[in-house]
Amino acid sequence: ITSKITGILDTIRGADKLTAENIEEAVQEMRKVLLDADVNFQVANSLVKAVKEKAVGERRIDNVNPSQQFVKILYDELVDIMGGDEAPIATSATDQPTVLLLAGLQGAGKTTAAAKLALYLQTPQTRLDASGDAEGGEGEGGKGTMTKPRKVLLVAADVYRPAAIDQLQILGERVGCEVFTMGQDVDPVDIVKQGVAYAKEQGYDTVIVDTAGRQVVDDALMAELKRIKEAVPPDEVLLVVDAMTGQEAALLTQTFNEQIGISGAILTKLDGDTRGGSALSVRGVSGKPIKFVGVGEGMDKLEPFYPKRMASRIIGMGDVVSLVEKAQKQMSERDALDLTKRIQKGQYDFNDFMKQSDMINKMGSVGQFLSYIPGMSNMVSRDQIKTMSKKFRKYRTFIDAMTEEERESPDLFTKEKGAQQRMRRLADETDEPIEEVQGFVRDFMKQRRQMMLMSRQMMGGADLDKAA
Ligand code: GDP
Ligand code: MG
Repeated sequence: ITSKITGILDTIRGADKLTAENIEEAVQEMRKVLLDADVNFQVANSLVKAVKEKAVGERRIDNVNPSQQFVKILYDELVDIMGGDEAPIATSATDQPTVLLLAGLQGAGKTTAAAKLALYLQTPQTRLDASGDAEGGEGEGGKGTMTKPRKVLLVAADVYRPAAIDQLQILGERVGCEVFTMGQDVDPVDIVKQGVAYAKEQGYDTVIVDTAGRQVVDDALMAELKRIKEAVPPDEVLLVVDAMTGQEAALLTQTFNEQIGISGAILTKLDGDTRGGSALSVRGVSGKPIKFVGVGEGMDKLEPFYPKRMASRIIGMGDVVSLVEKAQKQMSERDALDLTKRIQKGQYDFNDFMKQSDMINKMGSVGQFLSYIPGMSNMVSRDQIKTMSKKFRKYRTFIDAMTEEERESPDLFTKEKGAQQRMRRLADETDEPIEEVQGFVRDFMKQRRQMMLMSRQMMGGADLDKAA
């Protein structure tokens, strides 16, 4: 068959393990993808290293090239790192209201997030499993549990910008949530203390504190947050991080976590054209979970954080993942071993070919998709897939026109007496020139011979019957 098909059939004759050498190219590619997605340099490096160690020695999956398999390993690792336990918003263990302190730089989206979070917590939610779903689906119907709606009070503790209090009041009104304010001339620590007392008195069970931010992290901001934290031990300190800040998210998170101690983060502005690498940075440098993501300016644009979705977004290759999963399903190791055995013994026939071409065809659309991804295009080109699919279609019609006996005994088309008549018959039945049929048979026999040789070399004469 053609050299292009040979490339894909590589899977059965190539190395059966991923090695440091054969994944090196993929490793470099992945490093680039992570950096492009704004993953912090150090986080990217340690991640790539971990993935590399995991990948080496992995059994190769049929119909998946090492790069693709590598992507899947990386994806799993990302989900793992960002996932872990479900990270719901804490509730107070005492008779005091739950206090959630939002911190972060100016413009990160604190005030917006405070109001969004109020709306979210006031609304009964059906919690899905923490991982979410790679396809953006809504889980397997009815699996979630309902959360109890909370009674939320918003507290305006940003006293430095005159508009800040107004802004919170406007948003609070929009989400139907009372806003506690004492104006601009009061120490934020007192505002928060009195706010919590007021909440308790009024029967609110949750207090969300909107704090001031600075353009850059500064000592005064940190000192103020520390004072608030000490005065009113909050149940959560949530760092609000603008996803668009990319690389800077790592340093910001580190600083806040070291100086104040955070319990989690809210990643905002993910509706922008960011690849979300900052999600990984936040988790990577603080070890603290991202609890929510902001995906728009609207009050309902706050979602729980789903590691699978984020992993797909960061590597931008959700389809590679499903490709690998599909291939894993489609061909069990057992099948692969059977096929290898047949190849070795020279028993590979047209039925085997059909089975393989079925699998490859199913992956055609994914292959096409692959070629659109920068950096991945060198793995499978669109033209390659097109040419391949076209050839396969023609070859299929030849095989369809065969008798079962012919399909099981390719030799009937070469060694036997009636070989020429058989080929003529196929040509007539498919309306193709006889040369096409001859070419097909020649390609097939050549490929079969090559596969047999390579397979025998690879196995070093091991007895497959015993291995099975
Ligand atoms: P703060 O200074 O940290 O309180 O930030 P704000 O809450 O005032 O938000 C700053 C700007 O970012 C506002 O214009 C918000 O509408 C916008 N913003 C906040 N969160 C999001 C988000 O998730 N997506 C988008 N597109 N804009 C957001
Ligand atoms: Mg604000």
